[in-house]
Amino acid sequence: MKKRKIACHDCDLLMLIPHLKHRQKAVCPRCGFILTRFYQHAPVKLLAFTLTALVFLTFSLKFPFLNFYLHGNEQSLTLIESIQSFSSLNYIFVSIFLFSTAIVIPLLFLLSIVYISWSFNSKLLLPLTMQTLKFALLILPWNMAEIFLVSILISLIKIMTLANVSFGLSFLFYILFIMSLSATLMYFDRYQLWSIYQLKMKKYHDPI
Ligand SMILES: [Zn+2]
Repeated sequence: MKKRKIACHDCDLLMLIPHLKHRQKAVCPRCGFILTRFYQHAPVKLLAFTLTALVFLTFSLKFPFLNFYLHGNEQSLTLIESIQSFSSLNYIFVSIFLFSTAIVIPLLFLLSIVYISWSFNSKLLLPLTMQTLKFALLILPWNMAEIFLVSILISLIKIMTLANVSFGLSFLFYILFIMSLSATLMYFDRYQLWSIYQLKMKKYHDPI
């Protein structure tokens, strides 16, 4: 692949990215920011982990997320009901924030990757591929599923003094979803994806 100049995301230093081998990364010499990592067959791995994450996210919505035992009564909450419980405690903005960052944004991000992968594997690029890639990059920092999990665990410490709590099947699926999402993010490399896009377009533009 032709060498291209890229500006460092952190310090704006312009530099050429050399040809990278499997698992090699390019690092900014001025600030140490990781500019890109190259993995062999990264687009295939990206799609595989994306689809896995989507399946686990879907499963995590279907079954009980948390089970409560209080005075001999058992109550189960799904993932969405667990988030909704914050709004019933007058934390409506917390509830909206958690719902967006734990479910909606990861879902939109994963669906964007499916579309981009589908487009890259098509003979001709599908419409709005570039816009979808830009959208995925825009919402990338708002994938906060693991922060949601930590906040749930912290809340549980308080609840455990009042009731007996156990994790449901959905909790396990949600952890598997976070693991798959982390693997997806490992292969989601803006420079490599832009390189594929530009190769498909048969012309070179400046990356984002
Ligand atoms: Zn830099």
